[in-house]
Amino acid sequence: MKRTLFIVVSICVFILSIALPAVAQEPIDLAIVGGTVLTMDSEAHQIQEGYVAIRKDRIVDVGPKSRLERLYHPRQIINAKGQLAMPGLINTHTHIPMSLFRGIANDLTLQDWLEHYIFPAEARNVTRDFVHWGTLLGALEMIKSGTTTFADMYYFEDEVARSTKQAGLRGVLGETWLDFPAPDNKTFEAMEAFTEKFIQEFKGDPLITPAVAPHAPFTVSPEHLKAARALADKYGVPLLIHVAETKAEEQQIEAKYHARPVQHLKNVGFLEKSVVAAHCVWVNDTDIAILKTFDVGCAHNPSSNMMLASGVAPVVKMLQAGMDVGLGTDGPAGSNNDFDMLEEMDLASKLQKITLMDPKALPARSAVAMATIEGAKVLKLDKEIGSLEKGKRADLIILNLSHPNEVPSYDLYGSLVYSIKGCDVDTTIVNGHILMRHRNVLTLNEPEIIQKAREFHDRILESLKTH
Ligand SMILES: [Zn+2]
Repeated sequence: MKRTLFIVVSICVFILSIALPAVAQEPIDLAIVGGTVLTMDSEAHQIQEGYVAIRKDRIVDVGPKSRLERLYHPRQIINAKGQLAMPGLINTHTHIPMSLFRGIANDLTLQDWLEHYIFPAEARNVTRDFVHWGTLLGALEMIKSGTTTFADMYYFEDEVARSTKQAGLRGVLGETWLDFPAPDNKTFEAMEAFTEKFIQEFKGDPLITPAVAPHAPFTVSPEHLKAARALADKYGVPLLIHVAETKAEEQQIEAKYHARPVQHLKNVGFLEKSVVAAHCVWVNDTDIAILKTFDVGCAHNPSSNMMLASGVAPVVKMLQAGMDVGLGTDGPAGSNNDFDMLEEMDLASKLQKITLMDPKALPARSAVAMATIEGAKVLKLDKEIGSLEKGKRADLIILNLSHPNEVPSYDLYGSLVYSIKGCDVDTTIVNGHILMRHRNVLTLNEPEIIQKAREFHDRILESLKTH
């Protein structure tokens, strides 16, 4: 009898020992298993055989596979063996619907480009339909080159928001204000009312942060800059603006307001809180001190600054002063002309090196930080995105690391900045949703979007002939 009882107890203990760990495993929706994980957290952890646990829209754990595999029971597994998982890239300044104007007017100065090509082309072509398809085209390219969040300034920004949500991307989206009629709103009052309605519609959205985007100090009056600040304050949303992009802007603002662009924005009370300043090329030490005091983030756009010959932003000085500096592509209509953030990292680093004649000026690791966690700080979203950490949103990308240009890799940061390209991104995940797997975009109809882009090309060319 004793012997029988012993056998029964032994069997029970054996069954429990097998069953218990499975019972204790926490259910999760998705696990990225086995690849190298570049966290971009404050200690710059790199995990060789990593594991990222995702539940709904959040990262619930990041660590070595050997430890985490036993703790979680994933509904879906992505085997990332031999690959690299890292935070999704953050484009801090662009005009996404301008993808349909890609390369329409190359090799011009900013002033010439804006006044003689872009503003007229926009007046004749930018409709709600244009913005919808332009956003989808840009989103398709962003997903395929590893961008998961972008900051945008354009017209019909509510349409940009809807199309961005359709693609599954995250956006800080600013409705553009100008002192002359825009494609969507012909008067200041209409612009202001449109923007308020847009903010009300998207405030609190899990993917969209609505914003107010006065174009620049030279295209928006002090009175309207103040109104933009007031509207942003009313709803607690950010302000996006181009600042000190060219020497011509600096001269124009000095002549009109007897102050440099940054000083002028300070004088009108625009800089009080949450401003993303695109470019900051023509800023001196005093300007940098002002931007730092008001915690203004800078969106640095190396391709655009080089292509329009606007100048070289003092990125190293801004970083040394403690400013948050992220990277942006700017629009693709003659000031880039693509949305490839890996290229921006490469150019950002090399532009500082050659300008300062110092190969150590902006090392690869700093460039990767600017495209991830620093970009998140610029957009004031660093508590939510920018690094792979427990509790943050599940925005990440997986790169192959097996293409000829990716092997061998002695230094991951160096590989990312100097040899890996946007087309090496294999998988893109935003808010826990897989937007692209093995380069197939799951949220958008790629052939349809490419076809539409070709149709717009013909229509746009025709519109420019007839005027
Ligand atoms: Zn711009």
